[in-house]
Amino acid sequence: MTDADYEVVCSKIDEEKGYLNSVSQDIWKLPELAYKEVHAHALLTCALKRHGFKVQKHYYMQTAFRAEFSTNSGTGVTVAFLLEYDALPEIGHACGHNLIAEAGLAAAIASKAAMEKDKTIIGKVVVLGTPAEEGGGGKIKLLEFGAFDGIDVALMVHPGFLTRLSPIFLSSVKGSVHFKGKEAHAGAVPWLGVNALDAAVSCYQNLALMRQQIKPTCRINVIITKGGSAANVIPDESSMEFFIRASTMGELKSLVTKVENCIKSAACATGCEMEFSFVEEDCYNNLITNKVLINLFDSYLNRLGYINDDKKAINLPVGSTDMGNVSHKIPSIHPLYRIPATAVNHTKEYTKFAGAETAQEPTLQMGKAMALTALHVLRSPEVLEEIKKEFISDLEEDSRG
Ligand SMILES: [Zn+2]
Ligand SMILES: [Zn+2]
Repeated sequence: MTDADYEVVCSKIDEEKGYLNSVSQDIWKLPELAYKEVHAHALLTCALKRHGFKVQKHYYMQTAFRAEFSTNSGTGVTVAFLLEYDALPEIGHACGHNLIAEAGLAAAIASKAAMEKDKTIIGKVVVLGTPAEEGGGGKIKLLEFGAFDGIDVALMVHPGFLTRLSPIFLSSVKGSVHFKGKEAHAGAVPWLGVNALDAAVSCYQNLALMRQQIKPTCRINVIITKGGSAANVIPDESSMEFFIRASTMGELKSLVTKVENCIKSAACATGCEMEFSFVEEDCYNNLITNKVLINLFDSYLNRLGYINDDKKAINLPVGSTDMGNVSHKIPSIHPLYRIPATAVNHTKEYTKFAGAETAQEPTLQMGKAMALTALHVLRSPEVLEEIKKEFISDLEEDSRG
């Protein structure tokens, strides 16, 4: 990365800031749910085409896309910027994915400008439009299709209410259980019934008791979705849904076994039958932030004058993301950055902040820092070697966890 790269990246993004904001606003005003991001797909592919990228619409999936710019003929480093653009039911862009799309687009346009200016930069920039992060795991499906093959590093950023360069995103899995009992007249002959609601309540209690014996980074979130139809009938059916998280996939597996034991014992105690499942394909891996890449990114944030409050608070888990799965396949970063907000993600209030003018400056700084990091890696294959070495040792450490 040279001073000239720095100048080109900053001036290109500053020059395009009105346009970038309009793309982000357009996505924010028309929130679309997972796998239905038709408008965002059209808008972003059009923006990339207009800026000279070779675009593949509907890349393996209706609302995914791929765009490329390269200065090579099959040599050099390949860097990918990942975009998200799905929203949440009823509360719109409460996770600020419109800003993720904007920052990634900014980074892509700026990197291309620097590569065009200095032909000694050999390599490829890929922009991947990844749908359905908020349930559906678009990146997991893209990984299965091989969309990440040949990509050396993956970069994306995510708005939050604080900055965390290496945030803790947990491994997670969804599950459900159905208890089957036997109906009976609750006033006349309750002893003839087998109470499925009791099984659900007992299971809930078992899980609640177990929470003291699990690590503080583990999460067991559960709701009862069915618990009977009338108070004067012994319920013959009940259902529950689970969201289980842990620091690593290894820890998650052993936590799921404990949850299964809670379910089985509830069924046994109440005499109910049970059916339960944990959905493998919805399983998000924990995020592994590549230290070499994030240190580079951090150094560019400093140079850009970004005010980083990362070191002020304890690093606590902030959720789960399908970027975790990507980070187990290729060296990745997925830092959280603060936009001015007095609310947390996934609330109606946060939606307003994600669409506000005040979110623009930090988002564009993130775009600049991503472009500068990408150019640094494109210019120095030896840094890529360090990144890959770190990646291998991180994976080994993770599998021990
Ligand atoms: Zn979210
Ligand atoms: Zn999000």
